[in-house]
Amino acid sequence: MEEVYVSNHPLIQHKLGILRDVNTEPKRFREVVDEITVLLAYEATQDVTTRPITVTTPMGEAQAQEIAVKIGLVPILRSGIGMVRAMLDLLPSAQVWHIGLYRDHDTLQPVQYYNKLPAHSATEICVVLDPMLATGGSAVATISILKEWGAKQIKFMGLIAAPEGVKALRAAHPDVPIYLAALDSHLNEIGYIVPGLGDAGDRQFGTM
Ligand code: URA
Repeated sequence: MEEVYVSNHPLIQHKLGILRDVNTEPKRFREVVDEITVLLAYEATQDVTTRPITVTTPMGEAQAQEIAVKIGLVPILRSGIGMVRAMLDLLPSAQVWHIGLYRDHDTLQPVQYYNKLPAHSATEICVVLDPMLATGGSAVATISILKEWGAKQIKFMGLIAAPEGVKALRAAHPDVPIYLAALDSHLNEIGYIVPGLGDAGDRQFGTM
């Protein structure tokens, strides 16, 4: 399935305004990242396979559904960490895998410095989490690593993207659907999304 999904949900739009506001403190910022992640996850998981189960209610038996796929969450360090808790609340049996990348100053290419992917996994869906899809370099490299490792189905979830990042990710991995809260105007000369919200890591972790 090929798609770029940008939410126009009023709740997400309202919460994005809080994130963008330069006066929003880290505690509130983290809470709102959490809240938007929940709302976006609703969209990103709508095609997840379920299987029928029977449960016993106080009145008798009921037919219900349970998630039938194993899900791996891959936050892009460091700001993707802020989206993990909300995802785990919704998908408590998901695994969380870490891949660390930095950008080489000379080549400007992402270099892997940490990889905690399991040797084997029955996981069927990997969800890559990064609040800001800017140049797309980290997302493209992370997804390439996941594919080489053997990931079958991959989705990308972000809060705000630049058109440049979406274009790069679509070009490299057209099979990966992208779920966003907003698609902004452009990247500035130092790779920040405009108008964006600044550095999502700094704003979550108070390192401004
Ligand atoms: N990373 C961020 O945190 N913010 C941007 O605007 C771009 C990349």
